[in-house]
Amino acid sequence: MMRRAVDCSCGHHLEADDNDELFVALRAHADVSHPEMTDDEIRAIIKSSARDAG
Ligand SMILES: [Zn+2]
Repeated sequence: MMRRAVDCSCGHHLEADDNDELFVALRAHADVSHPEMTDDEIRAIIKSSARDAG
């Protein structure tokens, strides 16, 4: 199965099985590193930056 990858605005690299999982992973990262980041901002990052990994 093709993995999906995205880089956070801070450069943190994340991979997941699909965009929904990518959202969960980025939300969890943001909760720790960017608590001010909104769900809409996370969706925007995934929409603009998510790509197939590998
Ligand atoms: Zn980050």
